[in-house]
Amino acid sequence: MRDTVSDDHNEHHGDDAVTDPQPTDTAADTAATETVAAELAAPHENGFAALGLRPEVLKALDELGYEEPTPIQRETIPYLMAGKDLLGQAATGTGKTAAFAIPALQLIDGRAASKPVALVLVPTRELAMQVSEAFFRYGKNLNAKCVPVYGGQPIFRQLQALDRGVHIVVGTPGRVIDHIGRGSLNLDGIKMVVLDEADEMLDMGFADDIESILEGIPHDHQTVLFSATMPPRINSIAKRYQTDPVKINVVRGDTKASAGKVRQCAYVVQRNHKPAALGRILDIESPGGALVFCRTRTEVDQLTETMNARGYRAEALHGGMDQAQRDRVMSRLRDGTAELLVATDVAARGLDVDTLTHVVNYDVPSAPESYVHRIGRVGRAGREGVAITLAEPREQRLLANIERLTKLPIQIVKVPSVADLRAAQLDQTVASIRESLAADDLDAYYPVLNALSGDANEKLIALAAIRLFHELAGNVVDETEIPDISHRMERRPEGGGDKFDRGAPGKGGKFERGDSGPRDPRSKGGTTGFVYVSLGRGMGIRPGDLVGAIANETDLVGREIGPIKITEKFSVVGVPDKAVDKVIAALKNTTIKGKKPTVRRYTD
Ligand code: AMP
Repeated sequence: MRDTVSDDHNEHHGDDAVTDPQPTDTAADTAATETVAAELAAPHENGFAALGLRPEVLKALDELGYEEPTPIQRETIPYLMAGKDLLGQAATGTGKTAAFAIPALQLIDGRAASKPVALVLVPTRELAMQVSEAFFRYGKNLNAKCVPVYGGQPIFRQLQALDRGVHIVVGTPGRVIDHIGRGSLNLDGIKMVVLDEADEMLDMGFADDIESILEGIPHDHQTVLFSATMPPRINSIAKRYQTDPVKINVVRGDTKASAGKVRQCAYVVQRNHKPAALGRILDIESPGGALVFCRTRTEVDQLTETMNARGYRAEALHGGMDQAQRDRVMSRLRDGTAELLVATDVAARGLDVDTLTHVVNYDVPSAPESYVHRIGRVGRAGREGVAITLAEPREQRLLANIERLTKLPIQIVKVPSVADLRAAQLDQTVASIRESLAADDLDAYYPVLNALSGDANEKLIALAAIRLFHELAGNVVDETEIPDISHRMERRPEGGGDKFDRGAPGKGGKFERGDSGPRDPRSKGGTTGFVYVSLGRGMGIRPGDLVGAIANETDLVGREIGPIKITEKFSVVGVPDKAVDKVIAALKNTTIKGKKPTVRRYTD
């Protein structure tokens, strides 16, 4: 068995090139081997170091456990730091937030916060919070001040925060316009504008708002646009507002998986249920050895601890460990003392262990290429293997990219229920006892059977013995059900683009978002219900206000909302019928354009 861990720089050229350390005795080879060993023994150099980042940012990334840039970061950061405009096609999960946040932080230039230097536009409140948290994490050693501004939060709090001075503003277009109108957001000092998830913003009816914000920054600045899809309307925004943009597409490429014998599946699970789900999946799959990939060193350490606490023998492997520590971990995996190896991509490069049967992606990897490298750790030399991915609903696009590149389907499966786990464990007990029935020393246990025969019949004695074995085999079931959310991973048509037009404000009496096409809730099999909102065109209500309010206050996404009809005095919004009550309850507790609406089911 080989159990080498090496930094295998040949991996990109295909599976055949991955470590096969044949013994050689030439001087050159020996020298090369020594160099590799020396590199491995040295503490791992952070892969971000080569990008020329400020030491404060580099330190923050290192503390977060980021070991190397993701492909989108590697490709975009140098251009953005050079001041170029950029048009990037990248989905959530690729690491695109850091790709623009790191260069934006470089702009702060040690100045105390006053007028913002960067403005990031995002479609939803949730994303505004996530992105500003990312700025906080990456910029903490710079004392970076980032303020999120979004509808639904009392505006005075945002006014105060903006007034105290700010380096970066992250906001939804509607609220950003509000602040510009009030004079609380001054764009004079803006050097970089980022449109994040631009296609979602257009889908939510923010096109006019975005354009008016961009028109309001006439002076020289960088414009960065990220979008998961590139419908024509995105390209036309790029044409109007960008100058000679660098175009980056992280889904580009022609990597082909040599994973014919690897069974691939994905479980859809919310982040907070992932440790429990991983445990249950491992219980059902009973791997010979499993390699679990996490994105950062910190996540590796946390998950290793969590899985040990849950009774699994897990070991961590990451770039922060020296060679002696790595060797110890590898020998524990080899001799079966450890059953789970939790690792970062960097640390697991070139790792080749015969006993590995399962690779688990604790998150969908940020690039299809790294998925291919990861699953290349199993299914080697014609052996069978299993690749499991834990995906959050929002990561479905990344999965689709992987499928497209590998040309291999990934089956979406439900997280095993308590009943599934019980059934699997009983099957295992049946198999073990069947094996034991074939043993030739059963006679040795007659004295036990004879001693018990006065207490019960043989069937009862067998049941008691089975129970005892079953429990001793460690079959304890955690009774908590893990919510099944696999239905939220319906395959969204790729490149779906921009199917509906927002329609100019003022077109009363007709639906202003398309009422057909894949984004209509009705086309997904469910029926559409309608919600009456007592605010109309007369109060300045536009489709984006309604979509924004609903998407912010509920878990519905833009494409689940519509058609929308806005009259002078009221509006009617289509949402999936089963979500009507939830939408009503949410809208009753919110304000739209500063007004509290009356909301009810619309049944005309
Ligand atoms: P995003 O696509 O920006 O939503 O990022 C997806 C996830 O990847 C987030 O949880 C980030 O914290 C994480 N992430 C981003 N860049 C890196 C990196 N270079 N190494 C490890 N994790 C990263």
